[in-house]
Amino acid sequence: MSEKKSDISFTPLTGNTFKFRCYKGIQCFTDCCADLNLVLTPYDIVRIKNRLGMLSDAFLNKHTDTTMENHPQFPMVKLKMLSDEKRRCPFVSPDGCTIYEDRPGACRIYPLGRAATKPDAQRGTREKFFIVNEEHCLGFKEDKEWTIEEWLTNEGVDEYNTMNDQWLEIITSQKTIGPEKDLHQKIQMFSMASYNLDKFREFIFKSRFFERFEVESGLKSKLASDDVELMKFAFDWLKFSLFGEKTIQIKDEPSLERTTNP
Ligand code: SF4
Ligand code: SF4
Repeated sequence: MSEKKSDISFTPLTGNTFKFRCYKGIQCFTDCCADLNLVLTPYDIVRIKNRLGMLSDAFLNKHTDTTMENHPQFPMVKLKMLSDEKRRCPFVSPDGCTIYEDRPGACRIYPLGRAATKPDAQRGTREKFFIVNEEHCLGFKEDKEWTIEEWLTNEGVDEYNTMNDQWLEIITSQKTIGPEKDLHQKIQMFSMASYNLDKFREFIFKSRFFERFEVESGLKSKLASDDVELMKFAFDWLKFSLFGEKTIQIKDEPSLERTTNP
């Protein structure tokens, strides 16, 4: 998901192990934290904006760019690099990553890459791992050996994958999102529910949403304050509003039509 714009190559993993070590003091320390094409997932954004104590809008405006280059249909959000000569990540310091505990999934998993698809909730995630070789990275010359599983656990990747795979169901869905005339509105809904959770919270709490859709009261209270619960609910909403899946229940009103505009 992250990609340095130069000197990068991908090689398949032969077997289940690889050698790598990254530590403060290695000659290339933080060289990798610049000039990145780093796509952020909704869970990355939740973790970082909360770490920084920012609302989604402010975080998105200050730290991200939107791109259509990484997906044929949906806009993706990329971390905005600084405009200095090296195009450094805004969160890098001489001592390393200043948001380390909440760094994006792509930074955690490096030097592995993961290609994954999850066509629907019933089927499991299909995944393949490979090595992301960055020429300047000296970590490959170190002697520490890891299995894939050890690396994922050590870097806290599993939790990120669990969260991201729910979104993966949406962005890798084979289902159509409907007629051309609804596309603009649906893409806007995708962006808000995926990336701008504070606005999505306003959307459900300040409209007639709860009059129209069944949401159990315990969940409703969580949605008011728990960003991760809200994010999961937003994914259910997207599956409902984009693809017509039965992930959200309409209240028993015969005249009510499915709409993304309560
Ligand atoms: S070893 Fe690789 S990942 Fe670690 S600081 Fe150096 S370039 Fe970055
Ligand atoms: S978020 Fe942290 S680990 Fe990732 S590129 Fe920026 S400084 Fe490096």
